[in-house]
This record gives sequence, structure tokens and C-alpha cells, in this order.
Amino acid sequence: MYDALRSRYTFSCPATGESHVRLSSFRVLERLPGTAHPVVYSVRFACTCGDEHPGLVSHDELDYAPLGLQEGSFLNLMTAQMDAVARELGDLAARRIQGGEWPWSFFCYPEERPRLVFPSAFFLLSASRDDVGVAVRCPACGAVSVNLVSRAHVDVPFHNDAHVGVVEHVFADDVGPALEEFRAELYSARFDARRLDLQ
Ligand SMILES: [Zn+2]
Ligand SMILES: [Zn+2]
Repeated sequence: MYDALRSRYTFSCPATGESHVRLSSFRVLERLPGTAHPVVYSVRFACTCGDEHPGLVSHDELDYAPLGLQEGSFLNLMTAQMDAVARELGDLAARRIQGGEWPWSFFCYPEERPRLVFPSAFFLLSASRDDVGVAVRCPACGAVSVNLVSRAHVDVPFHNDAHVGVVEHVFADDVGPALEEFRAELYSARFDARRLDLQ
């Protein structure tokens, strides 16, 4: 469940009861087979307790809630004031998208170009204090690329790093082998800087 005021996802934690994490704390995202209305993703996230836990997140919470574009049950339970905040956030996001800005992007290595994405295209993440390695399945060509970006690039909609690190390697497109390759490449530091010029 997405908490719009804190910009964090709420999951349950066996140690502390509840955990509030940002998108960059997600580690694995996988679309649950057979889900359609809504599409649901199973995630593993790095919890504030130090462990990783499983959780579930709907497609809307993943891609639209960070933009304030969702009128989910969470917001419907809130006060009228909260609803007004959500609408205002949504309007702002809509205006920025119409103005040519996009909330998330990455550099597609096989295509040698930046591409616009939503967070549901991210499927593996690995974070250090400042950087996030992210494996992205390109919505245009379907290939998997690995970028090294700032935490804000992942967590803050419309914050796109001017340059991102790109692993010069074409990855397998299913999670199992990709996870091993991803970890191996991520720690080999074979990143090449590319300009993420979206205009
Ligand atoms: Zn925990
Ligand atoms: Zn592509």
C-alpha cells in the first residue's frame, strides 16, 4: 500500500509489524501470473529491520500512486483535505507530463537510447547508500538493461539523472538467471556513463 504523504510503501514486517520503504528499497519485482484486475506484483524489499521480506503491490500503487494519480481505498478513507491534496498532486503530474517531462526513465543498452518507463518495468534493484543498480525491462524492445542511478532517480518522480551508468551487457529476460548476472555485473563495476537526455 502506498502512503502518498510519506512517499513510501507500507508492508508488513515480522519483526516490527509494519515497514515504510521507498521504491529504491525494492529488490525484486515480479508480476504475479493470473492477475489482471488489478495486476499484482510480488516484491521482495529491504526492510528497515535489516532483513528482506516479501510483499504485494498492485500495478496502480506501483506506477500511478507516486504521482498522486490514484484514488485508491487508502485515500478514500482519508479526510476531504487529504483528497484535495491527492487531486492537486495528480493535476501537477498531469501538467508536467503534458509539458514533456516524464517521471521515470532509463537508458536502453541494446537500443543505445534513453526510454521512458514506469516503475513496473524495474524488476531487480540493488542499492548502496547513494546509488541504485536497477535492471529494467524495456517497454519498447523488451530487452533488459542495467543502469546505475541515484536513489532520487528511482524514488522521486520527475527527477531524472542527467547521466546514468550503463552496464555494457545484454541480460537474460527472466528473473532467475538475470538475478545472478545482475549481481555479478553490478559488482564488477563495468559501468559506462551515458547521457540521459530525454528531449
Ligand atoms: Zn522487517
Ligand atoms: Zn529498448
